[in-house]
Amino acid sequence: MSAADRLAQIRSQISEAESAAGRAAGSTKLIAVSKTFEGSDILPVIQSDQRLFGENRVQEAKSKWPALRETAPDIELHLIGPLQSNKAREAVELFDVIHTVDRDKIAAALATEMRALSRTPKLLVQVNTGLEPQKAGIDPRETADFVARCREHHGLSISGLMCIPPADESPGPHFALLAKLARDLGLAELSMGMSGDFETAIAFGATYVRVGSAIFGKRDYPA
Ligand SMILES: *Cc1c(COP(=O)(O)O)cnc(C)c1O
Repeated sequence: MSAADRLAQIRSQISEAESAAGRAAGSTKLIAVSKTFEGSDILPVIQSDQRLFGENRVQEAKSKWPALRETAPDIELHLIGPLQSNKAREAVELFDVIHTVDRDKIAAALATEMRALSRTPKLLVQVNTGLEPQKAGIDPRETADFVARCREHHGLSISGLMCIPPADESPGPHFALLAKLARDLGLAELSMGMSGDFETAIAFGATYVRVGSAIFGKRDYPA
């Protein structure tokens, strides 16, 4: 099966999951996660009218996307991997949505670069719902305070929350926790669900699902 065929299949699974959850058709936005794949793999997916793409590394995105963007004017590029403050400028230049704001140092760096570049990417706060020490994201118990600091201290507008549940746990409780935090904070966007669990995430209210291998195939090397 080609990536275009797999994309069509994912789109219909998303529609079915929306309808099963009693949600409006089209209320879930699909981000095709193209990390590790080359332009020649990504182009057929752009040609199948996919417009939202996710990358997890600034350098890799910088090497691939300026050329790919020229193939369609309305491509939206999403940063879904951890961000270092020394990459904040490049991230603000390249990305339309940044899902991984998770500490004050990053919030401050983004605020500075957004002012300098007069660009306002949409921002989401990453929450470490499983409290995994090796994983990025803010502690769920500190999320409300952090979002308030982003707004009041750093002058950033936060659109939603993102999580990556622990690989060895059932994702439902993590999606439920993220949805509750977002609801309590009045945040509209919920970035949750990957190839293995996007239908579950839609049932819990995901507005962005991030699907890589189910569209592009197995990655040759870990991202
Ligand atoms: C790689 C990645 C994905 C996509 O994972 P798949 O299992 O290939 O769908 C989603 N979100 C993040 C943050 C990722 O790094």
